[in-house]
Amino acid sequence: MFDRFTDRARKVMALANNEAQRLNHEYVGTEHILLGLLAEDGGTANSALSILAPELDLNRARAEVEKLILRGPEMLCSGNLPPTPRARHVIEYAIEASLELHDECVSTEHLLLGLLRESEGIAAQILKTVGVELAAVRQRLLSLRNPPPSAGVASSASTAKTGSSMRIIRRPSVYLVGRQVMDEVEIDRFLADHDVSHWTTDTEVAGEKLAEMAGRLCYLSFAKPRPGGNAAYLGHIREVGHGSVLEHAVWNFIITGVSRSFTHELVRHRAGFGYSQLSQRYVDESVAEYVEPDCIAADPALHEIWRAAVEQAHAAYVRLTAGLAARFADVEDKTLRRKMARQAARSVLPNATETKIFVTANARALRHFIELRCNEHAETEIRIVAGMVLDILALEAPSIFGDYQRVNLPDGTWAATTPHTKV
Ligand SMILES: Cc1cc2nc3c(=O)[nH]c(=O)nc-3n(C[C@H](O)[C@H](O)[C@H](O)COP(=O)(O)OP(=O)(O)OC[C@H]3O[C@@H](n4cnc5c(N)ncnc54)[C@H](O)[C@@H]3O)c2cc1C
Repeated sequence: MFDRFTDRARKVMALANNEAQRLNHEYVGTEHILLGLLAEDGGTANSALSILAPELDLNRARAEVEKLILRGPEMLCSGNLPPTPRARHVIEYAIEASLELHDECVSTEHLLLGLLRESEGIAAQILKTVGVELAAVRQRLLSLRNPPPSAGVASSASTAKTGSSMRIIRRPSVYLVGRQVMDEVEIDRFLADHDVSHWTTDTEVAGEKLAEMAGRLCYLSFAKPRPGGNAAYLGHIREVGHGSVLEHAVWNFIITGVSRSFTHELVRHRAGFGYSQLSQRYVDESVAEYVEPDCIAADPALHEIWRAAVEQAHAAYVRLTAGLAARFADVEDKTLRRKMARQAARSVLPNATETKIFVTANARALRHFIELRCNEHAETEIRIVAGMVLDILALEAPSIFGDYQRVNLPDGTWAATTPHTKV
């Protein structure tokens, strides 16, 4: 894994390992890599961090880590500790960054770029705490190294012979772009109309509060709430399977960097879901991105078979689009002409073609999706996305999604289990 790492980058990983051992952690997480970068005096990443996050020295970062995660129990954690899946992403992203920048080795600078790209881990939380806007800073660092090309799009991993570009993607992104808000004035008006002088609950999350209200409406139980607050109330709802209550909590996501196979599986979830997906009729795929499964990427020979096949399909698409545009030259409306060409040419695009999808779903539907798809029997890509969605929702609405346990799987991914299935 560290074959192409510079001495300094290897030292950062060794320091990360030491930091994990110091905290009695049995793994190397993103937070330890951040500590490793801060501890490695003199490297490019260390200097960049001192400019990007001047408040964050090694001591402050160590304190932040200990605020977020407890020290492990006193025991001897020795040797090379295994990376967490997110730390593994950071390393993979670092390797990708070095390839994108056409650098021969993976340096501390690439590790920092990897860390800034893994937006979900503890390191990301710490960087955000000290005001670092991960994506913007990463983009700035990249543009300093690699100014945008004057024409066309830079290709990360391979370029089709047609002269157009294709990029290989290995990680999805999940953006939580929308959540509900409460209308307290209307809630008070409803309560007053029903002889309840005051009702309150202890959650600030609109989805959780609305779900509790929906449950309380069924039994008109606003006046004398039992102890335990919103978490206990919704926990009970899960236990008794009063699932319709959870349909009133809704979130909106955008998911990108996923394959068409993924979205084909995703859209099979109909009840409680809404979708809007990137159109292959309107959007040109000649500068396309393709999602490569990790198990293929990990094997150079298999990767080569995959790359060649995708590149050939990509080249055929570009040639067909051009040929069809010429064939439909008599169609006056330019947009219609392009649409006619693309809708036929896309028939040769592979399942690996990257796509973007806007997803709106209620909590009950999301729980069902997580149960089926963040599951060891689910396909890897959808399991990873379902896990990312769960990670977001467990922070967003712990009263509804806080009952899942992680089970690590041999391939480095994880599955979620819960005693409350199909609520
Ligand atoms: C591991 C795995 C392998 C799979 N393999 C295949 C495969 O080979 N081929 C294939 O076609 N699909 C396959 N699927 C997809 C699967 O059959 C479902 O379509 C998908 O998981 C969506 O789940 P759902 O039907 O529960 O839908 P949702 O829309 O999420 O529905 C939620 C629940 O609402 C109820 N519901 C929804 N719609 C209806 C309805 N019309 N009538 C009655 N009740 C309804 C059901 O109780 C359902 O469970 C697979 C899924 C998994 C997880």
